[in-house]
Amino acid sequence: MSLIDRTRIRPRNEHAYHGGEVVYWMGRDMRVRDNWALLAAADLAARNQAPLRVLYVLPVTFLGATWRHYDFLLRGLEEVERRLRERGIGFQLELGLPDQVVPEAVARAGAVVCDTNPLRIVEQWKEGIAKSLPIPMYEVDAHNVVPWWVASSKPEFGAYTLRPKLLNLLPTYLAEFPEVPTLDSDPLPVVDWVAIRAQVQADTSVGPVQQVPGEQAGLEALRTFLQRIDRYEEDRNNPNLDGQSGLSPWLHMGHISAQRVLLELGASPGSESAKTAFRNEVLVWRELAENFCAYNPRYDSFDGAHDWAKTSLNQHRSDPREATYTYDQFAAGATHDDLWNAAQHQMVRSGKMHGYLRMYWAKQILAWTPSPEEALAIANRLNDRYSIDGNDPNGYAGTAWSILGTHDRAWFERPVFGKVRYMNRNGCARKFDVAAYVAANLEKSA
Ligand code: FAD
Repeated sequence: MSLIDRTRIRPRNEHAYHGGEVVYWMGRDMRVRDNWALLAAADLAARNQAPLRVLYVLPVTFLGATWRHYDFLLRGLEEVERRLRERGIGFQLELGLPDQVVPEAVARAGAVVCDTNPLRIVEQWKEGIAKSLPIPMYEVDAHNVVPWWVASSKPEFGAYTLRPKLLNLLPTYLAEFPEVPTLDSDPLPVVDWVAIRAQVQADTSVGPVQQVPGEQAGLEALRTFLQRIDRYEEDRNNPNLDGQSGLSPWLHMGHISAQRVLLELGASPGSESAKTAFRNEVLVWRELAENFCAYNPRYDSFDGAHDWAKTSLNQHRSDPREATYTYDQFAAGATHDDLWNAAQHQMVRSGKMHGYLRMYWAKQILAWTPSPEEALAIANRLNDRYSIDGNDPNGYAGTAWSILGTHDRAWFERPVFGKVRYMNRNGCARKFDVAAYVAANLEKSA
């Protein structure tokens, strides 16, 4: 009996497995428990009496990632190494680009298992590696509750089209995870984390966040949140309150599985309506973002928008803007709007911007740049650089929703925005105490 549902696995090349070491090339799902990719690799190894090794390949620079991201990621990986060792599974960390490192690192292996990630650069690496290998490579969706290729075979219009598909499939996929078996693989040398840290070339001016990385800390954050889940519906749109779960750093880094979040949510004593509201975010909107990036390689470009939005935004290209700012002015939080600046300062300082303000923040970038292309590029660059959960499909879907109307409908036409939904400061003032937020977050010296 297999540990894992076969539909979670898709072959990335034509080769068949004929025995030999199994390598789990860990990418996005940096945890040991509740990891379908690790379970699939362990299962294959155990059924064939083959050794298992977990390989992590760390580029010394990656997209807009800063020391903030590397610090969180490396501390999480230290926990991964420790937990794997307890189960007799070797962990190897190599520096470099995966398309150059993986083929050599698996040269004597019998099969490679990787986890899923729709971001373009990762997809390109996988495509090239799978073609070059003489052994099978399997991809496992360890990120979504319902594997994205099962949930839908096409880009979805919005939450309302994906939701029924996910809910229909949930009884099949929302199962308890098996334990990772204890194996007896060859021990590998302990990783020299100090040496690894010294070789990372990330920008250290963006420092670590307060949250503690790793799967244990992620689980504790989940359990703490579930004690106050009943306040989620009421408080989550108020940036002055601690109403959201705060789980995105661990979800983004793969330190906690969304499936574990849903399993614990189901067993928690919260009200059904609070649970439904939270499930709508962590399941539907999150897996919609995955669907968006998986089926739309132009997820971070104007060309990736719906036709109605492109037409409408094109018609408003020449509209006068109330102000325009450069990337540096935005980055410094130096616009004329103290609410926008306060949100930017909070993100720069803490690595987090509240979910409601993220929408307002991105929409004002559209209002204050010469074109939607520039707005999208600036929003993504800032988000990926400063947010601890940046460089994520959720981020690309979030900026596309805000600036290009993706997963939204056409609204009343207005200057600059065309038919893309508009948000302003008055709308924020109806939701929360703007002055209190600004007082708490605006850095006066900036
Ligand atoms: P909660 O409200 O507690 O939700 C729990 C989880 O559900 C989140 O951690 C996330 O995984 C998922 N989720 C919640 N809202 C959304 C959403 N709208 N879309 C997709 N998934 C969602 N999320 C990121 O994880 N990384 C990003 O870089 C990111 N950038 C964003 C940029 C913009 C402009 C916008 C509008 C949204 C962005 N989001 C991003 C989505 C959302 O704002 C965050 O996931 C959420 O605020 C994180 O806080 P939380 O974990 O406390 O959320």
